[in-house]
Amino acid sequence: MKLRKVSAAAATALVLTLTATACGGDGDSEGGSGSGGGDKIKIGIKYDQPGLGLKEPGGKFSGFDVDVATYVAKELGYDAGQIEFVETKSADRENALARGDVKMIAATYSITDERKEKVDFAGPYLLAHQDLLIKADSNISKGTDLNGKNLCSVTGSTSAQNVKESIAPKANLKQYSGYSECIAALQSGAVDAVTTDDSILAGFAAQSQYKGKFKLAGLKLSNENYGIGVKKGDTEALNKINTALEKMVKDGAWDKAVQDNFGPANYKNEPAPKTGNIVK
Ligand code: GLU
Repeated sequence: MKLRKVSAAAATALVLTLTATACGGDGDSEGGSGSGGGDKIKIGIKYDQPGLGLKEPGGKFSGFDVDVATYVAKELGYDAGQIEFVETKSADRENALARGDVKMIAATYSITDERKEKVDFAGPYLLAHQDLLIKADSNISKGTDLNGKNLCSVTGSTSAQNVKESIAPKANLKQYSGYSECIAALQSGAVDAVTTDDSILAGFAAQSQYKGKFKLAGLKLSNENYGIGVKKGDTEALNKINTALEKMVKDGAWDKAVQDNFGPANYKNEPAPKTGNIVK
């Protein structure tokens, strides 16, 4: 009985607090900054890359790209609740921006000259390197070992392109639409290796169901400078995003995002890149 009384009082107090907050909120936004109000911002991410861009079973989004995108959106005037994350697979990214499906893309999106003909990039905000994920007992140890082997990568990725053009043109390359499908193929034995950025592969290797089963070859087969893609010509967004990225590095949020997301995978990342500094 006594308990009930307490909860009733607590409930009344809560209602009063909520009412007060709601009134305060209304007042604030009326005199507001005009920074978006109830608007949403659509941001393209990956949905299947643990540690980078992942839609968790409960619907929560996690990963380094998600944290970078959330920080940048905040600087652009959008709270986390105003973000709508949209899945942008590797092969869809340029089109998603051109069509205006999303305002920006933070999806392990490497800055390349070819892509720059179609979209603009802010950043870079991370430097990764192409590597191989192989079974723990595999003796593949260099790129050319892949010639004649079954290899998996993703359509529209720099990883698949590099394999065909230079790393192992004679590999039997299967291309899927997402890396999670490649990982399943590695587990079943359908392929001998998966190739993409070490940052992505480390995230998969650290998943509890794969512990001890896979290893990274540890090869730096390329430089992948991650940028935030925007529609070609959207200079206003580009400049604001670059300013936000610089602030994120300066105030320590970039380091925190690295620790939170790459720490569990034991991924040794490169230091924060400087805006505009592309490592070829
Ligand atoms: N960073 C590379 C790329 O942009 C590989 C990862 C990906 O496919 O997202 O193509």
